[in-house]
Amino acid sequence: MAASASGSSSLFENSFPTTAYGAASASSPLKAREITRRAVGPHDVLLDILYCGICHSDIHQARNEWPETLATQYPSVPGHEIIGRVIAVGNAVTKFKVGDIGGVGCIVNSCGVCENCLADREQNCLNGAIFTYNSPDAALGGFTYGGYSEKIVVAEHFVIRIPPGADLAATAPLLCAGITTFSPMQHWKLASGQHVGVVGLGGLGHIAVKLAVARKAKVTVFTTSPGKIADARRLGAQEAILWSDQAAMAKLTGQLDLLISTVPHAYPMQPFMDTLKLDATLVNVGALNTLQGLNGMMLAFGRKSLAGSVIGGIAETQEVIDYCTARNIKADIELIRPDQINNAFDRVVNKDVRYRFVIDMKAVKACGAVVGVPIAHDVAPAMRAGEILDLA
Ligand SMILES: [Zn+2]
Ligand SMILES: [Zn+2]
Repeated sequence: MAASASGSSSLFENSFPTTAYGAASASSPLKAREITRRAVGPHDVLLDILYCGICHSDIHQARNEWPETLATQYPSVPGHEIIGRVIAVGNAVTKFKVGDIGGVGCIVNSCGVCENCLADREQNCLNGAIFTYNSPDAALGGFTYGGYSEKIVVAEHFVIRIPPGADLAATAPLLCAGITTFSPMQHWKLASGQHVGVVGLGGLGHIAVKLAVARKAKVTVFTTSPGKIADARRLGAQEAILWSDQAAMAKLTGQLDLLISTVPHAYPMQPFMDTLKLDATLVNVGALNTLQGLNGMMLAFGRKSLAGSVIGGIAETQEVIDYCTARNIKADIELIRPDQINNAFDRVVNKDVRYRFVIDMKAVKACGAVVGVPIAHDVAPAMRAGEILDLA
């Protein structure tokens, strides 16, 4: 049985319903609906979700905008910047106790035994990482549901410890936007005094600026929004230029040690490659579709690299959370209620957010959409998390 350290968690020995906000199709708005969460297994943590950030990937997936590589399964419940309070733990859990605060980012399982998993790169699992939403759900069948919900059950290995003192709502976006921009700075060893460019000043870009400034790098922001020039400087960038400013772009030819591109769609990248020094790298973390307009000769003559990077492993995600909490680095957020998600999606697409929406999941009740009262009968016994981790 999924015995637990908490008396109340006996309610979660069977799978149980909870309220979530999800889309029924690519063209339908997100609405409150009931979903099922698995029983709390021996290695599982049950989070009562407090906050969930809105990532541009949530919109891409809810609207099935990656049909060839990551087709969306409906209903789609997005959300992978989750912070919640631990309200039950399985009897083998050692990392958390009831009352702790935990975070869940983009991955909730992986094989645990391939060379990438063994190297703490679960996001690159050779057997396929299980993402927080829209991945096959081994416990319940169907597909995983994300954090636009009241509760979630996740194996403790994939739950991040949120240190005391963290600003919970503003820390949630670090679980995707933070790790996504931190990981390339670690891998490409962005050092003090180096010159880094950040392409796009949105949810990812504004955190990239803060992280680069914390490393004492010189930061140039490239934006298409004149209204964000002053913001970039406020965030600590030395310089912010419009893509359309060809004179400013030309001045940067051969200057940058590293470029991080956070723009969530393809665009002509060659003008940005031209700003790189010999041997420097443009790391694309935003556009997950076919890239455009690269000149092979210019890459060759400058021995430049174009690379990709996706989130980070669990250990590195813990590292960025600890790093940011210690330095008071957090996202600039606008807190919304769950019934404002659809409007927020449109505003993200229209670049009208400074800089991350975070959903106050405790406001579900105020929106009049509550299921999620645990019932301990009439449900199929759930697979234990320990069995899921043994898959490979
Ligand atoms: Zn994301
Ligand atoms: Zn693996």
